[in-house]
Amino acid sequence: MQNIQIEDRHITLITPSAPVATPTHGGRAKCLQRLVRLDLPVPCTVALSFDIVLQIARGTLPDIPAILSHFDPGTLLCIRPSSEDPDWGGPGAVLNIGMNTARHAELCETLGNEAATSLYLRFIQAYAIHVARLDPDTFDGIADNGALSLTEALDAYEEEAEEPFPQDLGRQLADVLTSMARAWEGTTARLLRQAKGAPVDAGLGLVVQAMKLGLGTGECGSGVLQLVDSDTGLPQITGRYLSQSQGRDALEGDAASLFLERDPRGPSLEELAPEAFRDLKIHAALMRRRLRAEMQIEFTIENGHVHILDGVRVRRSARAALRIAVCLVEDGIITPQEAVMRVEPRALSELLHRQVSEDAPRDVIGRGMPASPGAATGKIVFSAAEAQSSAARGDACVLVRRETSPEDIRGMHAASAVLTERGGMTSHAAVIGRGLGLPCVVGAARMKFHLRRKQIVTEDGRVFREGDVITVDGTNGEVLSGAPEMVEATLDDSFQTLMAWADAERDIGIRANADTPADAQTAHNFAAEGIGLCRTEHMFFEADRLTVMREMIFADATEDRRAALDQLLPMQRADFTELFTIMQGKPVCIRLFDPPLHEFLPTDRAGLRDLAEALALPVSDVTRRVEAMGEYNPMLGMRGVRLGITVPEIYDMQARAIFEATIDASRNGDPVVPEVMIPLVSTQREVEIVRARVDAVAAAVRAERGVNFTYRLGVMVETPRACLRADEIAQHAHFLSFGTNDLTQMTYGLSRDDAGRFMSDYVQQGVFPEDPFHLLDVDGVGELLRIAVERARRASPDITVSICGEHGGNPESIRFCRNAGFDYVSCSPFRVPVARLAVAQLALRDKMR
Ligand code: PEP
Ligand code: MG
Repeated sequence: MQNIQIEDRHITLITPSAPVATPTHGGRAKCLQRLVRLDLPVPCTVALSFDIVLQIARGTLPDIPAILSHFDPGTLLCIRPSSEDPDWGGPGAVLNIGMNTARHAELCETLGNEAATSLYLRFIQAYAIHVARLDPDTFDGIADNGALSLTEALDAYEEEAEEPFPQDLGRQLADVLTSMARAWEGTTARLLRQAKGAPVDAGLGLVVQAMKLGLGTGECGSGVLQLVDSDTGLPQITGRYLSQSQGRDALEGDAASLFLERDPRGPSLEELAPEAFRDLKIHAALMRRRLRAEMQIEFTIENGHVHILDGVRVRRSARAALRIAVCLVEDGIITPQEAVMRVEPRALSELLHRQVSEDAPRDVIGRGMPASPGAATGKIVFSAAEAQSSAARGDACVLVRRETSPEDIRGMHAASAVLTERGGMTSHAAVIGRGLGLPCVVGAARMKFHLRRKQIVTEDGRVFREGDVITVDGTNGEVLSGAPEMVEATLDDSFQTLMAWADAERDIGIRANADTPADAQTAHNFAAEGIGLCRTEHMFFEADRLTVMREMIFADATEDRRAALDQLLPMQRADFTELFTIMQGKPVCIRLFDPPLHEFLPTDRAGLRDLAEALALPVSDVTRRVEAMGEYNPMLGMRGVRLGITVPEIYDMQARAIFEATIDASRNGDPVVPEVMIPLVSTQREVEIVRARVDAVAAAVRAERGVNFTYRLGVMVETPRACLRADEIAQHAHFLSFGTNDLTQMTYGLSRDDAGRFMSDYVQQGVFPEDPFHLLDVDGVGELLRIAVERARRASPDITVSICGEHGGNPESIRFCRNAGFDYVSCSPFRVPVARLAVAQLALRDKMR
């Protein structure tokens, strides 16, 4: 440690007018100044700036006498951290600085031996462990039992530290400041705070405060108090008080008297010190009003008088945060806009889904990607069929698969949760799970999935069999054994109120990706402004349709194919009519058929036999045809618009179903303007060809029905080439919607279904900052999006631009889309509220700027 003392302009006594600010001295220092301005009984406090603390960490001592000059001689001091954001953490507070043998003797006179010795002992131990960095075992076996233990503790210190316990206040203060400043600069602390969003150069301030011991002859003690319940956000005075009059145990925290739930072991604070309790309530209400937040007060009571040591924002659950924000507006304390800014969009998903209770013990048996939030418990099943039987018996089940495919949809509907060995954030299970609001963990590759033996084996060798109960926590990607306690989803009036305020600020649209009437209803309930992506292929997996679909796929002649499609037409028409009706005239964007046809064909022997029977063909024939349709790289093969060009009857049927449903739904309800979207486009010619056929179908339906209608035709931009040629493509489209799942896959050359196997290694080693299927890669994929929007708008200024890949529900990715000039984002129905709030916050932030 150098002896050069740095100038003391960064050592500031906190007074109402002192130059103290959060960006230079931290939130705690600023808050204490606000309390001083409110004339609250705050003990003398000195703030040290970020700059001076950094200098201390680097070895330059501050002017210790200058700090001490603000305190009465003999005052004990405490030091607390004061970072810019309390969530960034900081070193623990160190109390009772100044305790030494002489001070101990004095306090024995005024407070009694027991209290004085206990204070000194606690300081020696805290100093030894946190400042001198001695082994905590040094004090093993030394009980807090008076003078004897004090001598033992001082001896143990001297032996271990090879010097006597420091008696000089200046030395103690300098050492504590140095150890706290250096703790902030340590690697672990740095990484932890950066994970919570702190910048690399985040500073630490320190506050040095006169101790109010809460010790004396009248009613004395210390505690915390707040005016709301941290879990619900409902008004309720709550806190904890350790009364000295309750004996030594109370000082150690064993005999706390609760304010409201009376502690059977002792009286409440209200009974012990009615005036102090009244003052505390008045102080807390004043802080709430003037600091414009629900605060927890830390206080001591000395001989019946209250001292306010600190105020921090109350710890709050997502549900409480929302209710607190709304209540503060209703009480005229903050504006609706401020309330909108105060709720973390992601925290909303906690409200929208059941969660494992924070207090529940967690027996973690595996981990994967948190693909769809919420938690659910059920018995393990290993196939979609078993999931359906289980649901029919009324048994909750967890569907465990290596990975899911469209054939599993009905099983997923029946299951309470899904767990897969493979897959990433945009794998089939993840996308469908989010769409259904079904908790889902994917890519749990460290567990062994023995599907034949119907077992999963955990990394530590535990075996879970069919029928065993597990819990899937899709919020954090954990798989738990058994059925921990859950907290139910809660959507109350506060939620609706806050969302209405958010919508008033929002400046781009939010739609939902919805494939089924149930999805559409959820989207409508969450006030989505339309459907941005309806993946029609899911509709063909219903039992009655699959066989017809397979007949269509097997048809050799166009007429046979048409005949099969004619059977599917009324079913599709009914699907679309229902969607249009639920959405009540809001736009519905229907994507034409996208997946490779062989996804609809059976893969196992039994399935092949059934199909042979249905088609009256030999099994060998069916097997050969199925094998012939296999592709080496199906995601880059015969799918999307390529099917539309080569097997155009499918799109003809879908277009007809859409237009007939438009007429039917408009007849009985709000007028419908459907949107028809072509997937996997890479050239303008593809759009021209499909558009000509869709136009022809529209003309035919108009003529047959004698009813006019309009529709919008759009292109799903999900290949890099479509981005680069967006100007040409835009000339044939009313809208472009970016399918960033496939676009990410193709930009990186990264399989969305297989990347889960190595994604965590990639992220851990910093190869990718995040899973690009989860968080939009703004540098690479984002550049393609920017190029595409700019070229498309140049060619067609009024074209509508949106995103419908999974990134559309991610707040950071939404920021990118809004900055790039998108008209709306579309995401899974359960993420619609998150997106609404995220956009409102972005708009408000821009306004503030
Ligand atoms: C996409 O590729 O981004 C998309 C939305 O379509 P899908 O996930 O169905 O391929
Ligand atoms: Mg796609």
